[in-house]
Amino acid sequence: MGDNSLHPHLAPGKIVCVGRNYRAHASELGNDVPQEPLLFLKPPSSLIPGGESILQPPGVGRVDFEGEVAFVVGRRGRLIREEEAWTFVSHVVPANDVTARDLQRSDAQWTRAKGFDTFCAVGTPVPLEQVDLDGLRVRTRVNGEIRQDAPISDMAFPPPVLLSYISRIMTLEPGDLILTGTPEGVGPLVPWDEVEVEIPGVGAVMNPVRAAPGAPWPRPRPR
Ligand code: MG
Repeated sequence: MGDNSLHPHLAPGKIVCVGRNYRAHASELGNDVPQEPLLFLKPPSSLIPGGESILQPPGVGRVDFEGEVAFVVGRRGRLIREEEAWTFVSHVVPANDVTARDLQRSDAQWTRAKGFDTFCAVGTPVPLEQVDLDGLRVRTRVNGEIRQDAPISDMAFPPPVLLSYISRIMTLEPGDLILTGTPEGVGPLVPWDEVEVEIPGVGAVMNPVRAAPGAPWPRPRPR
């Protein structure tokens, strides 16, 4: 875990994620699609490659899979225009934005719920020019059963809009990862599950789920 040299094209300085970017998924958790993209960050220390275990921390409650289409930034960009956005993307990669759902609900900010070690599984990046961008979709299986399957044309904010928007807040650097949100069908993982996020025609990332060893971490109380 925390291996930032997973792949030459996967050493992100930051992992920028988008929440509630598919209408049906926003609804299933009782939310609306936001009026502008909803962003959060995952730490690079959460990264794992395919085959490594997603570790369910003790005492956190429900831990969900979120299958997502992710993009690798290929060159530095800020104030990117939507029309040129794809020229800043080098690779496409399947990703699992693993989420401690109970903590996400209890915390105003999602750093903890989204940031545990092993909570960002990513596959092998495929160069953009080898990918049919119009046909991109994401499909998630748990123990072989399809749980999510949606085209990126269902996104509320498509990738060029996201790249442009993000680049007006923070400079995008080569290697940065953009996770574009998850479609309908999220659900809990339990130890010994196997979860696979596939982008058909691009690749897949499969990870087993295990309970992390150890007692629940101490919960400091305010003085
Ligand atoms: Mg997500």
